Amino acid sequence: QKLTRGLAKTRERLSAGLGALFGRTGELDAAFWDELEELFIMADVGAEATRKLLDNLRSRARSMGVTEAARFREVLSAELEELFPLPKKPKVTAPPEVVMMIGVNGVGKTTTIAKLAYRARLQGRKVLIAAGDTFRAAAIDQLKIWAGRVGAGIFAKAEGADPAAVAFEAVDHALKEGYDLVLLDTAGRLHTKVNLMEELRKIKRVLDKKHSGAPHKSVLVIDATTGQNALSQTKLFNEAVGVDEIVLTKLDGTAKGGVMVGVAISHKLPISFVGLGEKMEDLRPFVGEDFAKALLG
Ligand code: GDP
Repeated sequence: QKLTRGLAKTRERLSAGLGALFGRTGELDAAFWDELEELFIMADVGAEATRKLLDNLRSRARSMGVTEAARFREVLSAELEELFPLPKKPKVTAPPEVVMMIGVNGVGKTTTIAKLAYRARLQGRKVLIAAGDTFRAAAIDQLKIWAGRVGAGIFAKAEGADPAAVAFEAVDHALKEGYDLVLLDTAGRLHTKVNLMEELRKIKRVLDKKHSGAPHKSVLVIDATTGQNALSQTKLFNEAVGVDEIVLTKLDGTAKGGVMVGVAISHKLPISFVGLGEKMEDLRPFVGEDFAKALLG
């Protein structure tokens, strides 16, 4: 139900337009498709993804035998329900599961790590947060505070330490202390893009040597309020280091929920969770079917 509320602004932006389209009488004509295109663009689905989505919808309407506007809602609903790839379950042959958290500064990465740690704690897992963003002393301090709040362990070194060394030693510590899950924070300074991507690749290499299969997944955090920037960050990180899953933050209070559709269509990446607030409970698993319902009612 929280997802419905989180998507309220997005729905608001779309609903008048969609309502008018669904309420039309007559055929799915050129004017209908033009208006639909405009709606998607306005909801931050993105130009490229909108084109693909419209193609999908046209062929789906054909295969469903829907030719009139009045029945288009069924077509859109079916498309949205099937649009989102499901997150793959990572193969963890021996604990701990190591999750590398990546994303640009300010998107909500620290908060998301805390939220994920909190969820895992509720499931009874022993969680270690590793402070791999050694570039910002504040990031390390924030993580320490969150770890205390959610009941997770923290592994940190001094500001300026080698992030790959932090990753290596954190997993070493987790192996010795019997942790189930390591959530590794990483830097998100985008102004030195090339160095950052090299740093992330080095962390991945080091982790893989230290512990079989690690990192078991790389989770990219993006901020829904940044609209099209979220889509370009996805492209950037996915091409440079590979992304397994997305967490979309700050969906509460933004009308840019269409970003999710863009991520699913343009990058074929699963969205595992959405952030719906600043508190540790404000993280919801994302389910495509719920999204369709929340959006279309
Ligand atoms: P980081 O720089 O990526 O680590 O970002 P932080 O985790 O420090 O978050 C930046 C700001 O966004 C903070 O004020 C958070 O409270 C806020 N924030 C994070 N996630 C959400 C969310 O899902 N909804 C809202 N409304 N705010 C969020």
